[in-house]
Amino acid sequence: MKRGYIVDETRAMTDDEDFKWRGHKSGNKQKGQSSQNTIVIDHAIITTDPVPIKVLSEKIGKTGAEIISTLFLLGIIKNINGSIDFETAELVTAELSKDHPITLELRPESTYEDELNKMREDNIAKGGLVTRPPVVCIMGHVDHGKTSLLDYIRKSNVTSGEAGGITQHIGGYTISLNGNPITFLDTPGHEAFTTMRARGAQATDIAILVVAADDGIMPQTIEAINHARQANVPIIVACNKIDKVSANPDRVLNQLTEHGLLPEIWGGETPVVNVSAKMGTGVEELLENVLILAELRELKANPKLTARGTIIEARMDKGLGKIATVLVQSGTLCCGDDMIAGTATGRVKVMIDDKGKQVKKAGPSIPVSVTGWDELPEAGDIMDVVESDRFARDLAAERKLKLATKKDDSSGAVNLDDLFDKISKGELKTVKLIIKADVQGSLEAVKQSLGKLGNEEVNIEIIHGGVGAINESDVSLADTAKAIIIGFNVRPDANAKSLASQRKIDIRFYNVIYKAIEDIEAAVKGLLAPKYKEVVLGSADVREIFKISGVGTIAGCHCTDGKIVRGARARLIRNGKVETDTEIASLRHGKDDVKEIARNYDCGIMLLNYPDVKVDDVIEAYQLEQI
Ligand code: GDP
Repeated sequence: MKRGYIVDETRAMTDDEDFKWRGHKSGNKQKGQSSQNTIVIDHAIITTDPVPIKVLSEKIGKTGAEIISTLFLLGIIKNINGSIDFETAELVTAELSKDHPITLELRPESTYEDELNKMREDNIAKGGLVTRPPVVCIMGHVDHGKTSLLDYIRKSNVTSGEAGGITQHIGGYTISLNGNPITFLDTPGHEAFTTMRARGAQATDIAILVVAADDGIMPQTIEAINHARQANVPIIVACNKIDKVSANPDRVLNQLTEHGLLPEIWGGETPVVNVSAKMGTGVEELLENVLILAELRELKANPKLTARGTIIEARMDKGLGKIATVLVQSGTLCCGDDMIAGTATGRVKVMIDDKGKQVKKAGPSIPVSVTGWDELPEAGDIMDVVESDRFARDLAAERKLKLATKKDDSSGAVNLDDLFDKISKGELKTVKLIIKADVQGSLEAVKQSLGKLGNEEVNIEIIHGGVGAINESDVSLADTAKAIIIGFNVRPDANAKSLASQRKIDIRFYNVIYKAIEDIEAAVKGLLAPKYKEVVLGSADVREIFKISGVGTIAGCHCTDGKIVRGARARLIRNGKVETDTEIASLRHGKDDVKEIARNYDCGIMLLNYPDVKVDDVIEAYQLEQI
C-alpha cells in the first residue's frame, strides 16, 4: 500500500499463472517462497509527473530493460536513470501489461515547487508593503547615447561619502536624487530586459528610451518601443545630444507620435525630456520624471520578508568564484540565507554592492553580487530564499528532473501549425506577428494585407515591423510576446537563427505576398473551423418495418451494441454499404418516446428524411466530437 500498489490478492492466490511477480523469472523464485508473497498488480499509483523509470519499474513490476525497450519501440530513447511523462508511462504500461492490464493513476503529492509557491503566496498575504525604489532600464538605438547616459548618471551621483569605493560593474547600480533612490540596470539596450522577460521575470518598472535628437527615431528605437509595450513597462523619452547644433527635438516629438507615444507636452502620457548625456543638461529633470512616474505607479515591497529577486548577471570571478548579481525585489537578502535560483542553490557567503563594498543585507530594488553558489545561475532566473539548504537542494533536484523530461513543445512558443490547438485550448485569442522585410514598401504592403486577416474570433496583431535581416531582438521579442516571425525577402542572421532554434520560434519566409496571406489565412481558418472526430455510439438491427400513414416509416429494431440516442447522427448500412447518412429523428420504446435505448432492448427508430428502410439493415448511431 505504501508503494501505491493495489493488490488483488484473490487473483494472486487463485490464478496459477500469476504465481510470480511479473518481471521476475520463475527460475529466480527462491526456494520455499510461498504463494502469499506473490502479488499481481492491476493498479498502480504514481505520485510524480515526470515518472522516473526506476519508480515505474517498481510500481508495475516490470524490469527497467522491458520499459526501456518498449520506449525504444515508441521512438523514445531513455536509460534506466531517465524519466518519462505520465502519459508516456501509461502508454508503456499498457504495452507491457496486455495480458493483465495495469491501470496507472496519477495522484501527485505536493511538490517542493508547490511548497515554494505557497510560501510566496503567504508572503504576499502578509502585506506590510512600503515604497521601494524604481528599477529603470535604458533602451534605444545604437550610438544614441545609452552608455553615456548611464555613465553620466552613475558618476554624477557618487557622493563624497561613497567616493572611496571602487565602482563595480555588477549589472546594476543605485543612485539617489535628493534622498530618493533609483536603481538602474546597467546593461544598455533591451537584452537584460528581454532575457529576463523571457524567463517570466519582470525586473524593470520604467524604461528610459534614448533618442538622439540629431538622428531621430531609428529601427532599434522602434524595437525598443515594442519591447517595452509588450512588457507593459511605461516609457520616458530622453531626447539626447541636445547640445549638438544639428539636434532637432521637434522632429523627435513628431516621430514619437507617429509610433504611438504622444508626448506629455502635447497632451499625451509620455514624458519627453531634452538631455545631453555629454554635458549633463536635463539629466536631473529626467531623473525627477522617473521619480514622479514611480510615485504614480506606487511601487511597493515588504522588506521584512525573506528575499525574492531576479538574477541580472552571473559570472565566474577569478578570486570569488561563482558570483551572481541579484536584484532583490521583495524582502531582504541577508548573509547566511539559503537560496535557490533556477537549479542553482547556495548559501549567501559574501555580498558586494554596486560600490564594491561588502554588505550584510540588501533590501527591495537593491542589486547585490552574491557568492556561495553551487553552480552558476542564469540571468533572468528568479531567486528565492528558502527555509533550509536541504529544501533548496530538493527543489533543485525536482527542477532538474522536470527540465530533463520537458517536452519539446512546452516552451510556450507559438507555431503557425499549432495555432488551432492553442486557440481551442483557450490559450490564444490573438495571433501576434513580427514582420521583417527587405524594403519599406514591401513591409507596409505585407503589414497591411496580413493585418486585415483577423476577424471577430481571432485577432491579428502586428507587434513589430522593420526593414532588414531578422535579428536577435526580433527573436527575443517573439519569444516574450509569443509571436510568429514573418520574413519577407529577408533571412535571419546567425545569432537570430540559433536563438530561434533554441527557443523554438517559428520563422516563416516568403517572397510573394499572396503566399504569406494564404498561409496565415489557412491558419486562422483552421482556428475557426474546428476539427471533429467521429465517435460511434451503438448499433441496432432492423427486424420489422411499420409504415404508419401521416407519420412515416418506423424501423422496429433491436439494439445490439452500445446505445442508440435520439437526435444522434445515424448511418443506414445495407450489406456492408452505407445507404444514407442522416439523423435519428425519433426513438421509441413500446409506446414511449425515449432519449436513448441501451443494448439488448427493442426500439422503434425513425430516420430523418429516409423512409426506405428494410429488414436486416443496420442502423449505426454516432456523434461528432470536437477535437
Ligand atoms: P550607445 O551605443 O547608445 O551606448 O551610445 P554611446 O553612449 O556609446 O554614445 C555614442 C556616441 O555619441 C559617443 O561618441 C558619445 O560620446 C556620443 N554622445 C552620447 N551622448 C551625447 C550627447 O549628449 N552629446 C553629444 N554631442 N554626443 C553624445
